[in-house]
Amino acid sequence: MKKDIHPDYHKQAKITCSCGVDFATGSTREEISIETCSQCHPFFTGKQKIIDSTGRVDRFKKISDRAAKTKEERASLKSKEEKKAERIRNKEEKSLA
Ligand SMILES: [Zn+2]
Repeated sequence: MKKDIHPDYHKQAKITCSCGVDFATGSTREEISIETCSQCHPFFTGKQKIIDSTGRVDRFKKISDRAAKTKEERASLKSKEEKKAERIRNKEEKSLA
């Protein structure tokens, strides 16, 4: 191994997860904090967990709420058009009678 080019290796680096679990492993960093580990990752727990470190989930929720509102508005518009068509039909029927 060449001298003075390799970082220090910590055989017992402390890894701390946001769920509270901590364990040791080998790393060039002494301490590492992580967002998910094998104790809390949905793949291992089978439960759903949302990790939102950059606000992307909130952004998605906002967008989908807005989309739902627009859809409702469009649906109500359509029903207004249908009502209008019905009114016209009724008038025509009256004029025929
Ligand atoms: Zn964890």
